[in-house]
Amino acid sequence: MSGRAWKLYAVVAVAITAGFVAVPAAVGWREVTAQVAIGYFAAITIVVRTRRNSWSDWLPWWCFALGIGANASGIAVDYYIRNVLQIAPYPSVADLCDLLLYLAVATGLVLIIRRRSMETDWAALVDTTTITTGLGLLAWVFVIQPAALNQALPLLGRITQVAYPVGDIMLLAMTVRLLRGGGDRNSSFWWLTAALGSFMVGDTTWVVLGSLNVDPVGLGARLVHAVYLCGFLLFGLAALHPSARDVSAPAPPEAPRLSAPMLAMLTVTSMIAPAILAEQVWRGKVTDGAAIVVGSAALFLLVVTRMAQLLRQVEHQATRVRDLARQDELTGLPNRRAWNDELPRVLERARRDGTPVCVAILDLDHFKLFNDTYGHPAGDRLLKAAAAAWHGELRAVDTLARYGGEEFVVLLPNVNTTRAIVVLDRAKQATPLGQTFSAGVAVWDGTETSDQLLSRADEALYAAKADGRNQITAAAPRVPEQPVARITRREARLARAAREPSDR
Ligand code: GH3
Ligand code: MG
Ligand code: MG
Repeated sequence: MSGRAWKLYAVVAVAITAGFVAVPAAVGWREVTAQVAIGYFAAITIVVRTRRNSWSDWLPWWCFALGIGANASGIAVDYYIRNVLQIAPYPSVADLCDLLLYLAVATGLVLIIRRRSMETDWAALVDTTTITTGLGLLAWVFVIQPAALNQALPLLGRITQVAYPVGDIMLLAMTVRLLRGGGDRNSSFWWLTAALGSFMVGDTTWVVLGSLNVDPVGLGARLVHAVYLCGFLLFGLAALHPSARDVSAPAPPEAPRLSAPMLAMLTVTSMIAPAILAEQVWRGKVTDGAAIVVGSAALFLLVVTRMAQLLRQVEHQATRVRDLARQDELTGLPNRRAWNDELPRVLERARRDGTPVCVAILDLDHFKLFNDTYGHPAGDRLLKAAAAAWHGELRAVDTLARYGGEEFVVLLPNVNTTRAIVVLDRAKQATPLGQTFSAGVAVWDGTETSDQLLSRADEALYAAKADGRNQITAAAPRVPEQPVARITRREARLARAAREPSDR
């Protein structure tokens, strides 16, 4: 379908809607014919547009077409029953046709929502349920319950009258879920949302007019009918738009964020129960106590559930951020920050247990040359592969961390230098691509700080490099510094005398 078809359709749709409102139909059947024709036009557009798609793609759209077709047929059937047969049964076949719209459209929406969600979006589900519960309570008190208790109607009539607002609540729930979930929000998506909005605005208008005992005629009636016709045509536009094929594209749940309109909607709908109660208390008679209690309890539970979800999400993210801050991005090993936390902890444990600890610093040999020869990305791959290979050779209790650049550190608890060298030598043999490293190993002397221990290992590494690389060198024992206080005055005098020129 060319990109121009939808524009042409949009122009035609605007023209026929405007024409419908502007031209007063002298005879009722003309207006009805126009409505039915517009409905069929939209339904046929959808079917023609999607007929070449695979069945899973067209199924939701054909549900919409079926709903529109049924609703448009209902208008014709209703006219025929009232004006040709001159009878007024309630419910009639026309009601069945009208109600089919809700069922078919809801089915199409369920299919689209299911396809758009890669996984169950619990947050969206809770938000949708909250809004639906609030507005459902409103509909129950003002529309559903009065209709259900309307003794003037036979049972089937009451069921039919209840089915309309229930259908609207169902469409509302689907629309909110569609808007609240993740996925592409392209033009087709918004046309679809607008189509659903039109039906709900139309139905709400009827409810409000009905409660005010207003039966619109002439331009007023045509305006209300035009709202439904807009709904029909917008469905057609959504199907015809080139972005329609992406409406069902799977997507992960929406990033956890609460937009201002959504927050406002949740706040307002959560306040519906207390607002109804306040209104009834103010009037002096609480008539819907049970419904308000059930509605409020449901809303409270939903808000608490949402809060728990958000809290769990925050905790999860905090853990993830903490883990990421301690992990080297390239190799996945603990980074310097994690190492700096770990080393003093292990030394403290060794002090308590009286066990030895070795620390080694590894540095790839001639890594700059490797980078210069094979390129930086190849250098990155080597770092990653080497880290994995070394990790595989170390014991489970050993800690390998990336200290920075091509320098790595290893913590080997419970081993002496000789044993540490054996382990490190195995790691050296495992270095990929025939590369080598040099390493300096120092065994903790039981008193020195982490920095002092590491600096001895570094000196040993330096010696290994100076000695021709590709080797593991043990650090010299630490030379304890002479405490200044131990020097006697006499020793100090002698030292001073030795430094001064002996010209006496
Ligand atoms: P030596 O045997 O003396 O250690 O020689 P060398 O070339 O390995 O040492 P030098 O410190 O001169 O160079 C280290 C090089 O490591 C320089 C730098 O470009 C490279 N390097 C540091 N970090 C990374 C990294 O994340 N990825 C890559 N590809 N290269 C890195
Ligand atoms: Mg280096
Ligand atoms: Mg190096």
